[in-house]
Formats: sequence, structure tokens, C-alpha cells
Amino acid sequence: MGLFSFLKEKIVGKSTKQKDKYVAGLDKSRRNFSSKLKSLASRYHKVDEAYFDELEEILIEADVGVNLTLDIVEATKNETRIKGITEPTQINELLVDKMFVSYVQQGENIINEITFKENGPTVLLVVGVNGVGKTTTIAKLAKRYIDKGKKVLLVAGDTFRAGAQEQLKVWSERLGCEIVTGKENQDPASVAYDGMVKAKQSGVDLVICDTAGRLQNKLNLMNELSKIKRVISKEIPDAPHETFLIIDATTGQNGVLQAKAFKECTEVTGVVITKMDGTSKGGIILAIRDELGIPVRFIGLGEKMDDLEEFDLDQYLYGLCLGEEK
Ligand code: GDP
Ligand code: GDP
Ligand code: MG
Repeated sequence: MGLFSFLKEKIVGKSTKQKDKYVAGLDKSRRNFSSKLKSLASRYHKVDEAYFDELEEILIEADVGVNLTLDIVEATKNETRIKGITEPTQINELLVDKMFVSYVQQGENIINEITFKENGPTVLLVVGVNGVGKTTTIAKLAKRYIDKGKKVLLVAGDTFRAGAQEQLKVWSERLGCEIVTGKENQDPASVAYDGMVKAKQSGVDLVICDTAGRLQNKLNLMNELSKIKRVISKEIPDAPHETFLIIDATTGQNGVLQAKAFKECTEVTGVVITKMDGTSKGGIILAIRDELGIPVRFIGLGEKMDDLEEFDLDQYLYGLCLGEEK
């Protein structure tokens, strides 16, 4: 059975709502990637070096990243040689298979959902540069866990950006959840501290702490994040339990560089890729996984509270490569 049919079969059992969201959210990427693959296959009757060169270009243009692209194309080439495949569409299937394998090789059975502690609040710290969608993602995650019956507290730890406090406050009102805010330019660690105190007092299940992502100076960022973490763990010893790094898919390889810088500054337990709906270069998910080894836990597929989905490799590849094929 070819991979396409394999993927199709695998996602049959998955929720249609989620499938539709992936397909819609990856529309731009699919139009770009999938149509280029199709056009390539139609232009060649037999596969040669030039075919693989073009294939390489398509992957790089989709932001899969140079290293991973070379690996994937090499693996595809080898297998076509071994199996004696010369038919372009079959080779494209093999390619998708290799994309799948490259991701799974980095580790399987990843739990996307936040694992809650038995007792006391679970703390999630959210980091990333300005404008990537941290605050929006916090609101989306809050919604997700409120819907699952959890008591959520938001902590407006971005005291740097004007309006950031107010923005999170508006979300908390919409969500009907509690929030701890500070003043503009207040030490973010002190807001985090107030947040932890409040979390313990009011017995919340999940605390989500916003931060200002100032990456201009790595040392500064490192100091700020470690101070926030120190203060958090002073109140809740093993916290933060999770640190999510938010990456904007539309920033392409620059996003990968940001991710590397953050990874050097703090321990990251998961990545959330936002604005997948706004990019035609959906390959960035594979690049992030390959170059950082950190799992993508959720993806943002729009600006609304419900536009967050768990990352699912099958759905992703289906959305990227097949979707609603006519
Ligand atoms: P922050 O500076 O990292 O906190 O970023 P914000 O949460 O303020 O978001 C910056 C902009 O990106 C806002 O206009 C959001 O509506 C938008 N945004 C966030 N996530 C998504 C997403 O998944 N898709 C789209 N299309 N826009 C998003
Ligand atoms: P420092 O500023 O480098 O000394 O960092 P600290 O770890 O001492 O604390 C950072 C911020 O968190 C402080 O400015 C306080 O506002 C807050 N904080 C930390 N620990 C406490 C505490 O025990 N009580 C109170 N009220 N605030 C604290
Ligand atoms: Mg923000």
C-alpha cells in the first residue's frame, strides 16, 4: 500500500472537525507544495538527476530546511534506485514517506497535551519573540483546558510591550478566567511571583505565564528568563513544569534561528507553531523538529480562540500533501 492511501486510511478514524481544520489551515501550503510536486511529476516522464534537483528546490522553498532537505532527497533517491522506481508520481509518494520517517525518527509517542500534576498547580511558561502569537496562543490554550474542566489562571508577565497587560486581560474576560497583571515596566519576575502566590491561594489547576520575548541580547534574555524561573520555583518547587516556545511559521528559517537562540537560553519542553494558516511554507514544522529535536505540540491555524490544534503528523502531512484533492 502506498503512503498516500496509508495516510488516508489512518486519518479516517480521526475527528472530521480536526481534519477540516488541518485541511483549511494548510490550504496555502498545500497549494504551493502539492501543486509544485504535481507539476514536476507531469513534466518528467522518467526520473533523472534534474528531477531530484528540482525536488530539492521545492522542499527548500517550503522551508523544510537545507540539511533535512538533503537527507530526505538522498533517502528518496536511494530507495528509488533500490526498488527500481522511475515513475515520478511514485517517487513523490516515496518523498512524503521519507518526510514522515524523518519526523518519527526524532521520537515517537509524544504526548502533546500538558500533563497535570496530581497536587497543586501545573505551571506553563510561554516564551518567544514579539509578535509571534504568544498572548493569542495563551488564550487558546486556556480555552482548551477550561473546556476540559480545568481551573486556569493567566499571568501577564509581559510588562515590556505597551498594551500587553490589557491584551491578556481582555482575553481573560472573554474566557472568564482569573488573571494576575502588573504595571508596565514592572519586573516580570515579580508579576510571576504574584501569580504563583495567587495560584496556590485559589487552587488553580493550570497557570499560564506570559513573557516579553526580547531577543536583542541573549544574555539579557537568559537573565530575565532564569530570574522568572527562579521566582516561580521558589513558590512552586518543581515549576515551571512546561515551557512552550512559540514560533511564527511565516518567519521561515528565521524562526528556526530564533528557536535555537531560545533553546540556548532556557529549557524548552514544546514548540507551538502559529500562523500556519498564513504561510505557504508549511515545511517549517519538519525543520524545527529536525534542527532542535523539540516536539511541536500544538499548531495555530487562525486568530480565534478555537484555532489551536494538537500537532498530528498524519493530519499534517495529509493536509500538506493531499488535503481535498480533486
Ligand atoms: P505576541 O507578541 O507574541 O504576544 O503575539 P500576539 O499574541 O499579540 O499575536 C500577534 C498577532 O498574530 C495578532 O494579530 C494575532 O491575532 C496573530 N496571530 C496569532 N496566532 C495566529 C494564528 O495562528 N494565525 C493567524 N492568522 N494569526 C495569528
Ligand atoms: P533579584 O531581584 O535578582 O533579587 O531577584 P529575586 O529572585 O530576589 O526576586 C525577583 C522579584 O520577585 C522581586 O523583585 C520580588 O518582587 C519578587 N519576589 C521574589 N521572592 C519574593 C518573596 O519572597 N516575596 C515577595 N513579596 N516577592 C518576591
Ligand atoms: Mg504578547
